[in-house]
This record gives sequence, structure tokens and C-alpha cells, in this order.
Amino acid sequence: MNNDDNNSLRPQSFDEFIGQKNIIDNLKIYIQASKIRDTSLDHTLLIGHAGLGKTTLAYLISIALNHNIIVINANSIERPKDLIVSLSKLNEGDILFIDEIHALNKNCEEVLYSAMEDFYINLNVKNDLKKEIIKFDLPPFTLIGATTKVESLSKPLLDRFPITFTFNKYDENDITKILFNASKKLNVVYRTKALKLLASVSRFTPRIALNYLKRVNDYSLIDNIKFIDYHYVCKILNKLGVKNLGLKELDIRYLKMLHYDYDDKPVGINTISSFLNESNKVIEEIVENYLIELSFVRKTGKGRVITSQGITFLNTLHK
Ligand code: ADP
Repeated sequence: MNNDDNNSLRPQSFDEFIGQKNIIDNLKIYIQASKIRDTSLDHTLLIGHAGLGKTTLAYLISIALNHNIIVINANSIERPKDLIVSLSKLNEGDILFIDEIHALNKNCEEVLYSAMEDFYINLNVKNDLKKEIIKFDLPPFTLIGATTKVESLSKPLLDRFPITFTFNKYDENDITKILFNASKKLNVVYRTKALKLLASVSRFTPRIALNYLKRVNDYSLIDNIKFIDYHYVCKILNKLGVKNLGLKELDIRYLKMLHYDYDDKPVGINTISSFLNESNKVIEEIVENYLIELSFVRKTGKGRVITSQGITFLNTLHK
């Protein structure tokens, strides 16, 4: 069975990693310098929205350094013990990648401080009913942290990352290139306009773009379509409920509510959530973040307000 999930679409070298030129150029220098010095790469923090390529970059760093990578998610680490298990598997120069590192609890974070700074951890050991603390040395390693919420990261942890990269937005050309490379890997032929349309609804996020590409591939396989054009992608996006700029039904209902039901007046988050029958978290994190980024909605002291751009967008939907 072929594996056509995200892993097989992951770039295997920096050359295949599209965009983020500034990050890649700097990273290449730091990696080269660490190789010349024969030291581990400094701990590195990757900051950016979900799906922008943080995990992919961590894998690419491990390939470039020619060292193993251990991947864990902070949400699944409850006790320091869980973290220590991963730390104890590291060899010299290896990488420990902690995704969503802002979710690490205080006790686990404290284990990281000495591990990151001086490559040791303190182990609590019970010996003949006595409690003892034993210092356990670690080989020099690189911690790569990834976070979607850097503002939630504690200052002491943040300060322990000598290298910090913040991902920039991708542009339409970058996303089109990512889609083109993926379509080649998956052996599906797309017209350029069709890829550009997919890019335009991707919220300029590689993961979203690739997910739509894969859904269109599914439909084209069943419909036996060999060359995918703009109109075919339009048809499938319609079936998927994806509108212009990658907005979904819920986003449109949100905008319509502010415009038609509340006459463009400010509306509080609780009212919005109960009107749309969704949690505050869904409204704030999934719906509003992107609408605010598009400048379709503004947060004010009195509540959320639709902007003139938001109203213009709603009007284009009826044309
Ligand atoms: P994150 O860890 O930031 O959530 P991932 O690294 O998992 O994002 O990326 C999601 C998908 O997008 C992966 O399948 C990866 O192949 C692809 N991708 C992300 N960034 C790029 C890029 N710059 N060039 C090519 N593919 C990318």
C-alpha cells in the first residue's frame, strides 16, 4: 500500500522547503558552524500557526545534522518522568522536538532548565526508604521547541532558546509551488490556474492547501479525471463547502449575523457563541482569528464589529 499522507509529502531537504527564506538562510549558517565546531546546534524555538511547517523544519534540521530526532507533544507529557524517558534516549548531537511546548506544565518545564543549560537532570531516587537526588548527565543535544502560542511560554523557558525563528506568512506563489510539488509526488496533473485557486482558499497555510489538494485528488480518482482544471476544483470546493478566501459556512454565518441580525453594531462573544451554537473557543480561535486577519471583523471594547471590507465581501457572495 502506498503512503500518501503528510509524511510522504514532507520535504526531504532544505531545497524542497518552499519560502521562509530568511529562516532557512540563517539556519544553514548555524548548522554549518555547529558542524565545524563539532558542537550540538543551539536550542531552537519555532514560532508560528499550525500547519506552517514547524515539524517539517525540525525533521530537515535533523537530516542536515545527520542526527536522530525524537518527537513528542507537550500535551501528552503529564509527569517529569515522561519527559525524562525521552531525554534519556538521546545520543550526542541528537534532537528532541517538543511540539506545542507552551503546553508543558511547570514541573516538566523545570526539568528542562538544567537539561537545556548544563545538560543534566536531577533524579529523585528512593533508597532504603531515604530520598536521594542523583545528578544524571545528558549528552549535548538540541532541543527544538515549536509553539503556536509564544505568549503562553514562560520567560525562563523562552530565555533558554538562543535561536528563535518566527514563521512568516506564505504568499500565493509559495503555496502554488508547494501544491505543484505535492501534485507531482502524488502523480496527479493540475492546470496552473487550478493550483492557484486551491492556493487562494488555503489561508496561505501549507497543511490546509495540501488537505484540499488531497480531497480534490480523491474526487478526480472516482470521477476518472486525468487533468484537473479550474472548473473542476471550483466544483469540488463547492462540495467541500469552501468559499472565497477559504471561508467556511460558519464564518459566513458569523459575518451575516453581525451584518443582518445586529445591524453592524458591536456584539459580545457570549452572544455570538450562543447565536451560532458554538463554544467561545471555536468562535475565538477558529472563526475570529482569520476574520480579524482579513480585516473583516474588529474587536472593540463593546464587542465584535463587522468592517466595511467584511460587508463588501458578504455582498460579493450574492453576485
Ligand atoms: P506544523 O508543524 O507547523 O503544524 P507541518 O510541518 O506539519 O506544520 O506542515 C504541514 C504540512 O505542510 C506537511 O505535510 C509539510 O509537508 C507541508 N509543508 C509545510 N511547510 C512547507 C514548506 N515550506 N514547503 C513545503 N511543504 C511544506
